[in-house]
Amino acid sequence: MTEMTPEKAAQLRAPFAPEQIGKLPKPTKRDNEKGKCSVCGGYHGLPAVHLDYVGHAATTDRLLQVDPDWTWAPMAYGEDGLPKLDAHGGLWIWLTVCGIQRPGYGDSTAGKGMKELIGDAIRNAAMRFGVALDLWAKEDLSPKEEPEQESERKPERQRSTSQRRRREREAAEEHDDWHPNPAQLRRFHAIRNEHGISETEAKTLMSKLVGKHSTRELTKAEYDSMCDAMEHWSTEPGDGDE
Ligand SMILES: [Zn+2]
Repeated sequence: MTEMTPEKAAQLRAPFAPEQIGKLPKPTKRDNEKGKCSVCGGYHGLPAVHLDYVGHAATTDRLLQVDPDWTWAPMAYGEDGLPKLDAHGGLWIWLTVCGIQRPGYGDSTAGKGMKELIGDAIRNAAMRFGVALDLWAKEDLSPKEEPEQESERKPERQRSTSQRRRREREAAEEHDDWHPNPAQLRRFHAIRNEHGISETEAKTLMSKLVGKHSTRELTKAEYDSMCDAMEHWSTEPGDGDE
């Protein structure tokens, strides 16, 4: 078996070649009118920002290069023996690379088929190994659904400046200034208790899933994925069957 070494970890995290990086359009608002995009050539809501991303094929290629024996498994199986989706239609998996197992989640944005869910979950888990991490970090800073009202009818140049400012502000909220408030901490522990998760187990999960050691250090996205992960705890992550 290939073992995780600092060299392997660095290979996983190595930057991708420009031709392996795709452009993912994110309309600034869900109901933006669709049109032909001059940036990516696609047909989607405009205006939009474009995020760099590494697709399933390039991610798989990277995993194979680093560890030909990499593998993944769903966290839960249904009665028919097939991977079981969560209540939101998402797929939780364990990804094993160089003997190390980390969780990943494929989210069920409208109408995604199983193959896309699997690809999504693998990309998400691979990110926990550092694969395309720099690009994911940018994706986390993407604009949310409601842009500032004042940016609505401004010329293109001013609009993109205000979009950039908003991204910067959201980045600050997301990564520095945001901390779970007391109600959110209560919710966190309520979910934990409800699913019979001990504090130690929650800490282990937190360090595996987001690399943090205290709920107070969580960003909004990390807080959300922890709550999600705990809500699915009853599905018994397949840690013990090695
Ligand atoms: Zn585009």
